[in-house]
Amino acid sequence: MILNRYLFFGIVLLLGAGYLVINNNVISSTLSITTGIVFNLENFFKNNYDQRNYYSFDNDHLSLDFYNMPLANAQEQNEEVDININNNNKNNENDKYVILMFDRGYKSTFTKAKPILDKYDFKVSIFVACSSTQSPKGMTWDQLRQLQNEGHDIQSHGSEHTKLVDIRSYEQIESIVKEGKECLREQGFSPTVFQAPYNKGGGDPKIVDIISRYFDFAFMGHSKLMFLNCDGWEKFGYSRESYEGSTDCRPYFANGTTTHANKYAMKEWSHDRGHDKIYESKFLNEDPHGEKVNEAVLKQFIKIIESQIKFNTDGQINAIPIIGYHKIDIGKDYYTSPELFEQEMKYLYENGFKVITLADVGYDENQHRFYIKNDNNMSSELSQSQNKAE
Ligand SMILES: [Zn+2]
Repeated sequence: MILNRYLFFGIVLLLGAGYLVINNNVISSTLSITTGIVFNLENFFKNNYDQRNYYSFDNDHLSLDFYNMPLANAQEQNEEVDININNNNKNNENDKYVILMFDRGYKSTFTKAKPILDKYDFKVSIFVACSSTQSPKGMTWDQLRQLQNEGHDIQSHGSEHTKLVDIRSYEQIESIVKEGKECLREQGFSPTVFQAPYNKGGGDPKIVDIISRYFDFAFMGHSKLMFLNCDGWEKFGYSRESYEGSTDCRPYFANGTTTHANKYAMKEWSHDRGHDKIYESKFLNEDPHGEKVNEAVLKQFIKIIESQIKFNTDGQINAIPIIGYHKIDIGKDYYTSPELFEQEMKYLYENGFKVITLADVGYDENQHRFYIKNDNNMSSELSQSQNKAE
């Protein structure tokens, strides 16, 4: 009887082990078939990310999965494509760029972020909503002028921080855009880039047209990387829905509808949203600015900024991350604490990232593509600015 029982368990164990072996074989043979097939990045992302729309908050969160799961796979596929093009092709680790942008002109940009930026001699782009200045929350004009004199880039976030799509009349929309430029000019700034409040309005050709009358570029929508030729998904993946049919950075399709990524629909990665989603999905019982959450957000930040490497080969810059911050503070869950901001800046510094501003981004009217000005000279920029500081 006892023997039988052991025999019974023995058989169950054997069956279980056999099942695992079979299953593992299935998994590994599926994997080797998959990796053996030469298929391009387009199909890879098309199959996996068809339905994702990067315009909305919730779907933007879904895209976090992109970095958790298929990055290694994407890297493999990309290498395969590279090998086909050029055997000597290699990733240039020296070509790592990042743009840091600050929303609205909060006081903490001056009081909390600036001392950390100064430490590493990093310059950033600040999008000012004029109605926020000279207020308890906002910077003063003098502080903004000081930032400009020190090499920071001051751009426009409108005369007030109101969603353009919520405004009924185009006259009123135009006034927010136009005044958003003029209020800065009156104070000695020359903004060339407009950030639509809440990054909304890119689907309305009339709104895009209004912005184009006053600004060279604009921000609408979100993406982990900004592709300089605006054809994100077609060449490299990401959301098909967000990029479908775009081949360059022109704002309109032939039928007059707007393209999803273009010179008036540049993309930022919202640090606040990323932080919030990580906190809400995994760490609700933790301090949103404690060590655990900071560590997870820093990890995500690093994944995003490093993900450009596979697209920027042989000195050709195709993609850069544009990281959007709001408050550098701890008042609300999604703010970026000065501690975390310091860790992120330290990482950029120690890993050779070139921190540029939107003033360093140009536009090629023939190719309808963004480019980075003085790209070739950028490698010596850090040593130059260090000399200047001495
Ligand atoms: Zn904003």
